[in-house]
Amino acid sequence: MSGLRMRAQSPTSPGLFRALPYRTGHFRLESGYHADIWLDLDTLFVDPVRIAPAITMLAGRLRRYECDAVCGPMTGGAFLAQALATALRVCFFYTQPGRASGRLFSAEYRLPGEMSRQVAGARVAVVDDVISAGSSARATVAALSAAHATTVVVGTLLALGDVGAAHFRGRGLALEALERREFAMWTPGECPLCRDGAPLSVPG
Ligand SMILES: [Zn+2]
Repeated sequence: MSGLRMRAQSPTSPGLFRALPYRTGHFRLESGYHADIWLDLDTLFVDPVRIAPAITMLAGRLRRYECDAVCGPMTGGAFLAQALATALRVCFFYTQPGRASGRLFSAEYRLPGEMSRQVAGARVAVVDDVISAGSSARATVAALSAAHATTVVVGTLLALGDVGAAHFRGRGLALEALERREFAMWTPGECPLCRDGAPLSVPG
């Protein structure tokens, strides 16, 4: 992926993401940020044997936070959360996307009704497969807080850029990432592709 400003920075990288397809273009991320790369995550969980070492490694990082549960946003975050919950022998919860207005960080995620009752009082690790600006993880932290659960750490297989990490750091939450890569993303007002009049690409 040379030339894509996505340099592997971790010697512990399981290399999961090198084989994933990506597209270049002009994309609007769920957070509302714009980027020139789209990583296709649809196949990340297809082969459970291939992803197992990464699950084990991330579970090892999260273990010391002594969480009672792992929660992730549908879909990739929830698949990761379920695998981690099994590895850590703790409970599994997920959030589902709701409304989004199109403004930065307007995405909402909610816990299914009975889950929001069961999670009350728990110490929770919030995870997502990949975190760039961290929109869905942030919304999941908010949903847990509304359900009277406490987020104790945020975890991911791959952190892209520092926007998400800086946000969680500001809230006193560590972001445990197996792999970190540089990643360019811009608010719509700062986006050089918008300035050049490039139309937004449709991923997929
Ligand atoms: Zn743009």
